[in-house]
Amino acid sequence: MYEGIVQDLIDELGQLPGVGPKSAQRIAFHLLQADPADVRRLADVLVQVKQRVKFCATCFNVSEEEQCRICRDPRRDPSVICVVEEYKDVVAIERTREFRGRYHVLGGAISPIDGIGPEQLRVRELLTRLADGQITEVILATDPNLEGEATATYLTRNLKPLGLRITRLASGLPVGGDLEYADEVTLGRAFAGRRAAE
Ligand SMILES: [Zn+2]
Repeated sequence: MYEGIVQDLIDELGQLPGVGPKSAQRIAFHLLQADPADVRRLADVLVQVKQRVKFCATCFNVSEEEQCRICRDPRRDPSVICVVEEYKDVVAIERTREFRGRYHVLGGAISPIDGIGPEQLRVRELLTRLADGQITEVILATDPNLEGEATATYLTRNLKPLGLRITRLASGLPVGGDLEYADEVTLGRAFAGRRAAE
């Protein structure tokens, strides 16, 4: 245990994902020895990111404006929506350059153990988007793990009556993992080889 504010810093850092007590301590001591201007810059970015970044009103991707860059881009195909769990998945799919449509970020996956059902995700918002008839294909790009599968199955069942083309990424993605861990080539192939959801 350290004194006062140093311990506070270690405690705060320790709350971050993937930062254990040892790492928190290491980062804290790095900051204590760092140039004050560098630390100030880090602090400014932390404050600004919370002030400026919000979620796109249409797809819930991160955005600095009312609508994200992808939703605002008139060259993107408005008839295809790719449904993902998190905004980091948007980044992963964008990197493949395989997809020219738009996205819908659910904000997670169905996981009864964690108390997350469809009501906790942006499913209602997805259905609202699909209601205008402009969208003809929905690509379900949830993670290749249990929660992702459960979410895709739930969505397939609920979207089927709308008469849209519903597709899922081709197999070949590392099972049990996150979409973002797949390399660009594999993810790109899974996209190109997408198949009708059952
Ligand atoms: Zn958007």
